[in-house]
Amino acid sequence: MSNYTKKQVADLVDGRLDWDVVHRMLSSPKDADRFVKFIAVLQERAAWPDRILLPLGPHLFIVQDQDKAWKIKCGCGHVFCDHDRNWKLEALVHVRETVEAMNEVYPKLMAPDPSWQVYREYCCPSCGVLLDVEAPTPWYPVLHDFEPDIPTFYKDWLGLDVPERAGA
Ligand SMILES: [Zn+2]
Repeated sequence: MSNYTKKQVADLVDGRLDWDVVHRMLSSPKDADRFVKFIAVLQERAAWPDRILLPLGPHLFIVQDQDKAWKIKCGCGHVFCDHDRNWKLEALVHVRETVEAMNEVYPKLMAPDPSWQVYREYCCPSCGVLLDVEAPTPWYPVLHDFEPDIPTFYKDWLGLDVPERAGA
């Protein structure tokens, strides 16, 4: 098992490694402190002081804010909601539900039939960045991707102290 440096993890995040190196890093057992290094790289780049507890995507994070509340936050600083709520209900949503809208993504005749499948694109209401895309059937409720068990993840998986949480 290799022990990668924080610089190598930062290069991984930035996509600056060639495929052979990426493949080796992703397919071999992770060094024990990979998550800590990964979070440290993300934290250095954050434009706000809140502690990142878990990234949910390239621009979306669960953070511990200055009052020790756990919130879902965009990279721009926009706060969506508490960490155990569905942030998508607070996002701007663009629904591709016509052939014309699908053809902006797919070549003609290669798109899904929008009477069977739509795209819901969730964007930050403050900065407009695309945060997630769903491809459900048209009638399907907004998906709640997952609700991570942060205490178990930190304590039992990582062997770290559970971050403090206001009111918990
Ligand atoms: Zn934003």
